[in-house]
Amino acid sequence: MKFDTVKLVVDLKSLSRGMNRGVYDIPLLKVEWNIEDVDPADSQGILELVVDFGDEFVLCSGRLNAYFRTPCARCLEPSRFSISEEIYRVYTWIPDPASEEQREVISQSGELSIFDAVQEAVLLSIPLKPLCSPDCTGICYN
Ligand SMILES: [Zn+2]
Repeated sequence: MKFDTVKLVVDLKSLSRGMNRGVYDIPLLKVEWNIEDVDPADSQGILELVVDFGDEFVLCSGRLNAYFRTPCARCLEPSRFSISEEIYRVYTWIPDPASEEQREVISQSGELSIFDAVQEAVLLSIPLKPLCSPDCTGICYN
């Protein structure tokens, strides 16, 4: 399976029918995450990816093992958090407006971007109340 680790795009032509598995080093700082107040905490993460290539659907699932950071809710210093959400997305060639499940349509180019699915996993992993340390006392001017 050919996978662009910066754009997060799978080359469908490189897939075989059925299950395709890969583990990739992701250069986190080169990926344009476009998430407000959130940046990678390390330069590299690991993406475990499983792509099930079927006749009607392409099912992508996996996990990003990485740390990101966002301002601490008390002192605004960077606070690290890990990605806790699994990646899961169904893609199809023919849109079905009646379907309740969210399905992205695959472009004719044969490239399948899983960026949105990975970005969503990062978004859903942002803590509700991020803290730089459990006993952070906040900004103190004394
Ligand atoms: Zn803090």
